[in-house]
Amino acid sequence: MATTTYPILDYLRHYDYENLVFCNDTSTGLRAIIAIHDTTLGPAGGGCRMWTYASEWEAAEDAMRLARGMTYKYAAANVDLGGGKVVIIGDPKKDKSEALFRSLGRFIERLGGMYYSGEDVGTTLRDMEDMHKETRFMITLPQYLGGAGPIGGVTATGVIHGMRVAVRRATGSDSLNGLTVGVQGLGAVGSEIVPQLETLGAKLVVCDADASRVAAVQVGRSVKVVAPEDIYQTPMDVFSPCALGGILNATTIPALQCKVVAGSANNQLRTEDDGAAIEKRGIVYAPDYIINAGGAVYDSDRLFGGSHLHERALAKVHRISETTQRVFDLAEKEHIPSFRAADRLAETRIAEVAKAKALRTRGEFR
Ligand code: NAD
Repeated sequence: MATTTYPILDYLRHYDYENLVFCNDTSTGLRAIIAIHDTTLGPAGGGCRMWTYASEWEAAEDAMRLARGMTYKYAAANVDLGGGKVVIIGDPKKDKSEALFRSLGRFIERLGGMYYSGEDVGTTLRDMEDMHKETRFMITLPQYLGGAGPIGGVTATGVIHGMRVAVRRATGSDSLNGLTVGVQGLGAVGSEIVPQLETLGAKLVVCDADASRVAAVQVGRSVKVVAPEDIYQTPMDVFSPCALGGILNATTIPALQCKVVAGSANNQLRTEDDGAAIEKRGIVYAPDYIINAGGAVYDSDRLFGGSHLHERALAKVHRISETTQRVFDLAEKEHIPSFRAADRLAETRIAEVAKAKALRTRGEFR
């Protein structure tokens, strides 16, 4: 008898996903996919991405990959949320409307609090406002609606905390004073990292594919500008990728002339082999989702405290220093690359919480 295969369900099982929800609203043109990876720690949280996916499978795979990333990010950052993500299939420059985002909001509301949404590539705080007209289950919101507002600045703060711990591992001191830091990408995060690094006495090398972003950070400060393709081989102490994923790979790693890599970009390592290759070169790699969690920690804080409180949320962002140190300590103890130590930290927390929940259910633990 031929074996029946279930491609999507097999994929869900392989990576232990809980749900994949397909949303269609013919009247608004909405086609969206909500992925829920793991809700052991709490309801799934993660942003809403809008992108011109080439196929339905590409969109589903992206939603699932990103949701799984959120599980790890929240777990390692000690946030009581699971991992989720929604992707909208469409062109953010042409296909947006209030009706479309309100429609998505209704789908999220229908899930009854299983998934909380927020901003991501292709969506803005404005879109969050439209979703919020239909659903209570939002993480990212503008300040006037009780949210944390823009989070690029706090993400930058968290990245710098992690960067300093990585620099200490490489040099023995966490001071950035006089060190050269190369920032790739000067968007919401990179443009905020630049002034914060400047305050700490770092010398800056920057690049961006968009010349207007470079011009904006040059106003009132002296930074060295290089072409985007030259950033990898430029000598520097710290390389801070704040643009795209996949930029640490077989081509770029041999070219790097730095002691530390610490930036905000998600999924910097193209493959797991690249994580090992960077360690082999003697470069300290601060795992991306550990040090870029500042925004996620900051804007989800109000879900647990009733309302957004800047000082309390920022105190949690400062803990990124401790978490980064724990990752390096674990890597050293277990003789594993830092990216693997980060995963282990997250997986251990989820497993421990799952075990405690199971014991509580059986009445053996209170
Ligand atoms: P953004 O879109 O605001 O900025 C990205 C910048 O990178 C743009 O200015 C773009 O022109 C530039 N860029 C694109 N390709 C480039 C290239 N090849 N070389 C140089 N520059 C290039 O994005 P962002 O919100 O600043 O996020 C940056 C990265 O950090 C992304 O990977 C994002 O997923 C991640 N991240 C962001 C946050 C946040 O709070 N915004 C939080 C966690 C992780």
